[in-house]
Amino acid sequence: MKKAISVKNDLIETRLADAQEELVGLKGFSDPEFVDIIKELGFRCEFCARCCTKEFNDHVFLLDADLSIIKKIDPDAITPAPYYEFCDQKGRFYVSGYSLKTKPDGSCIFLEKKRCRIYENRPSICRVYPHMLHREADESGKVDWRQISGLNEHGSYHSELEDSERKAIAQETRAYEEAYLRQVIDFLEAVQAHFRKNGLKHVQRTYDRRMREFLKGECELEVFLYSANGFEKYNLKPESD
Ligand code: SF4
Repeated sequence: MKKAISVKNDLIETRLADAQEELVGLKGFSDPEFVDIIKELGFRCEFCARCCTKEFNDHVFLLDADLSIIKKIDPDAITPAPYYEFCDQKGRFYVSGYSLKTKPDGSCIFLEKKRCRIYENRPSICRVYPHMLHREADESGKVDWRQISGLNEHGSYHSELEDSERKAIAQETRAYEEAYLRQVIDFLEAVQAHFRKNGLKHVQRTYDRRMREFLKGECELEVFLYSANGFEKYNLKPESD
């Protein structure tokens, strides 16, 4: 009989506890407070398209619901989301989902002449942005709620928004943040179960070494990507010059 190997994975446990705590906090965040902040900001998009670039927004993370839509539009438009979360002692990486590819100039693969080619089917984050509802630490390390991204760097402010519009933004943003956190929690639980079953653990030194080799073009990366269907294996080739 095979003996179960017990390996402690503190990092996974800490991240799981943080995500679960964030979800509880999100549910407790008062709707009227959020609606008031949306009213006070009165944000309107001015179609500068800056939010569709890497320079402004690092990447467009796809929820499972987005993923099935994008796969139908263009299965080649997706890539493992950057900043893989874990690396086991055998050098295999684990990542919580997909993001959209970008073009060499850093703009989204679907951006053309400052317009979104798939506007009606754009991913959830593109619909709610720049509104958000999650906690982040400030410069002093104090963690508090953040409700908007890139304030004063794009769009216009202090527009009069209809009551129904403010409520719809609040609802959609909250739904996005909740779906995102649930996806992260599912991923962390799946990694935790997989690591426990197979005696694996996250090793930061292996992560750093493999990533260095990959960035120098010396190796491929074996990446396990999580989605509603479980883990899918990817062999990521280094970018050629
Ligand atoms: S999918 Fe459309 S809205 Fe979203 S980042 Fe790409 S171009 Fe912009």
